Amino acid sequence: ALRSALERAEAARALNALISLNPHAEQQAAQVAERLAAGELLPLAGVPVVIKDNLNLRGTFTTCGSRMLEGYLSPYTATAAQRLISAGAVIVGKANMDEFAMGSSSETSAFGPTLNPWDHGRVPGGTSGGSAALVSAGVVPLSLGSDTGGSVRQPASFTGVYGFKPTYGRVSRYGLVAHASSLDQIGPFSRSAADLALVMGVIAGHDPLDATSLNAPASFQGAQPLPSPLRVGVVTESLQGNTPGVQAALARMLTALESLGASVQEVSLPSTAYAVAAYYLISTPEASSNLARYDGMAYGVRAAAPEVGASMGAARARGFGPEVKRRILMGTYALSSGYYDAYYSKAMKVRQLIAQDFARAFERFDVLVTPTSPFPAFRVGERSGDPLAMYAADVDTVAVSLAGVPALSVPMGFEEIGGNLLPVGIQLIAPALADERLIALAGALE
Ligand code: GLN
Repeated sequence: ALRSALERAEAARALNALISLNPHAEQQAAQVAERLAAGELLPLAGVPVVIKDNLNLRGTFTTCGSRMLEGYLSPYTATAAQRLISAGAVIVGKANMDEFAMGSSSETSAFGPTLNPWDHGRVPGGTSGGSAALVSAGVVPLSLGSDTGGSVRQPASFTGVYGFKPTYGRVSRYGLVAHASSLDQIGPFSRSAADLALVMGVIAGHDPLDATSLNAPASFQGAQPLPSPLRVGVVTESLQGNTPGVQAALARMLTALESLGASVQEVSLPSTAYAVAAYYLISTPEASSNLARYDGMAYGVRAAAPEVGASMGAARARGFGPEVKRRILMGTYALSSGYYDAYYSKAMKVRQLIAQDFARAFERFDVLVTPTSPFPAFRVGERSGDPLAMYAADVDTVAVSLAGVPALSVPMGFEEIGGNLLPVGIQLIAPALADERLIALAGALE
């Protein structure tokens, strides 16, 4: 399996989806063979997987798609990656991504853009575009990405695979390079709901190394009873501004849910109208403080200059790309004295209101439905010159992240644009800790 995954990875080279191969993959595969020979039962025995390049894997370079981390060799392994290895998976390589997981297209990587396997002129979505493209192109059956405001769900939608953002705290963030710590969650990509359940069963669960890790039992294996009748709420605010193909995919999803016996009604989440604004006023302050460590002294590429301040400045000027710089500036601004109350603290209040909108909706509904994105994959370069147009791509995913609830992008067919079929995903959202039920529902829809 490893060898054929490596062959397929070679074939997929044109997608620019991998930053590096894991030099220890053969050795990992040999260890799996030994453990199997010793009679161990391994849920992911020999399964080739890829992880996003913001996850530390001992003995590999972890770049976060940035020049800033040039030469950084991980001295330790992220918990989620370690759990994959313990379950018998073989980590084939590290996937391309937007620099420090900031973007919606996988174009901001210092290693060049990743391309969409369905149309090489289009983006795979972001920021986990490499992880999504490699599953979509059949290079590996499973991969890990990270989702701060949609970075697993949106690329899953753009590439026609499943992508799951767990409840905040369900998967340990230990070893995931931080973007916005109160939002970051590691999540898997797969080609079936059953595979999502399999990988979540492996990576979810308490980890003493992550102080925000939840101590909830993970029960992804075995039958998950679905509420009957299932009460489905379609979010009113997500019905505007979609392409015809996205609208059609949403209609197909609702029909499929109804054929499972679900009742479908509209529900309004009024505060989600402010979700994109609140998200960028919360994520950029967190990012500006998380990225302060890359000063070329303790962390990051070093730049020679006559004194320390100039050296730090030079390291940042050289190490970070324009989007990362923009985020650090925005975040620092929103946190600065005189602006904190006007921006950051207001955004935190909006975050509360959004969480309350979801809580209220989940009193009446078991699952909420929206498109994952208002449109299918856009063209390479189409939005990269306009940060606001790029941020607008997150309109359907960021509210979920602010509320900390689990959500899944389910592939729901295609939209034909310019003679090409482009995948379209629909987002299913569940209350906190209902991750198992959400994946089971996606399984029932297959
Ligand atoms: N597009 C969003 C951002 O740029 C989400 C990124 C992510 O989920 N990592 O912040």
